[in-house]
Amino acid sequence: MGMEMADIESALGSRHPKFRAKQIYDALYAKRQLDLTKATALPAAIKAEFESGALTEASRYDSVDGTVRYLLGMKDGKTIEAVFMPERGRDTLCISSQVGCPVDCKFCLTALMGLERNLTAGEIVGQVLHLAARHQLDPQDKQMNIVMMGQGEPLMNLDAVLKATRLLVDPAGVGMSERRITVSTSGLIPKIEELAQSPVRPKLAISLNASHEEQRVELMPITKKWHLKDLLEVCVHYPLRSWEFLTFEYVLLRGVNDTDADALRVRKLLANIRCKVNLIALNPGPGIPFETPDPERVESFQDIVKVGMPCFIRKPRGLDIYAACGQLKRMSEGAELIGITG
Ligand code: SAH
Ligand code: SF4
Repeated sequence: MGMEMADIESALGSRHPKFRAKQIYDALYAKRQLDLTKATALPAAIKAEFESGALTEASRYDSVDGTVRYLLGMKDGKTIEAVFMPERGRDTLCISSQVGCPVDCKFCLTALMGLERNLTAGEIVGQVLHLAARHQLDPQDKQMNIVMMGQGEPLMNLDAVLKATRLLVDPAGVGMSERRITVSTSGLIPKIEELAQSPVRPKLAISLNASHEEQRVELMPITKKWHLKDLLEVCVHYPLRSWEFLTFEYVLLRGVNDTDADALRVRKLLANIRCKVNLIALNPGPGIPFETPDPERVESFQDIVKVGMPCFIRKPRGLDIYAACGQLKRMSEGAELIGITG
């Protein structure tokens, strides 16, 4: 898993005929055969040499709202999280790009893990194929969407993220549409520029999370390096495709960044960008020193922002199983969840 056609061809070398590469590629990505030993088109000699590299299921946690969080095992024994979120007319798979995350956002549980390692393209695609198989999803169906918003900062692992994206959108492979894959970043400016140059790329979401520079640096210390002004400049010039909007995510923290004045500043900051805003009321967790604002506060914030651009409130999913945004830290079900207002 994770090999493109050229990678498979070079792995086959001169020991096997070249057409076998196409058969392996087809079995892995188009037929999504997670167990290659069952691929009837492949001869035993190939099966003896190649395995799919599919992830194993270490645990599964089911939420009352239909969300399912998976802990998936990799070759080195480490585990990674992926979340399935069904909705009427739309299924969303939230997948990870790293084990843990090196970015130190003050409101995020994943940050407490630090970075263990980058995922490979195969491990990224492997999450998608595992969830698709478990929930009988057809990646070519408009119903299925992927967000790279699980553990990790995807743009710190951009090569693997782009390779995984190519495999997922290749019509001869998994066959998804680029329009249905979104990558979310804390705002690494040079990597956003690199992403912009990529011929095949997911849609881009940026975690804004603050209405001015000082506040942003406090909540997301990494932004000391990547200033808000420069980030917005890159966004203004980002080469959006005809059908595309940038998304800005904004985690609302009670009494910290959730005032009407903050909302007004957000609207002004983003005025020149073709974008929409997703508001996320904080999902609390142990060790997170912030509180969730009341729903009325979140709605007032939305009312102000939406004068300037589309603005939505993201419903928390899977709070009871630690599957919501910012909660992915390999928690077990039933871990204490005090003070959730959702
Ligand atoms: N690392 C990437 C993608 C993963 S985080 C990024 O930061 O964009 C996905 C989203 O969850 C981000 O927008 C982040 O700001 C948000 N988030 C993090 N912790 C959260 C929390 N405790 N409650 C609600 N949203 C949170
Ligand atoms: Fe990493 Fe995103 Fe969490 Fe920040 S919010 S620590 S970038 S996963």
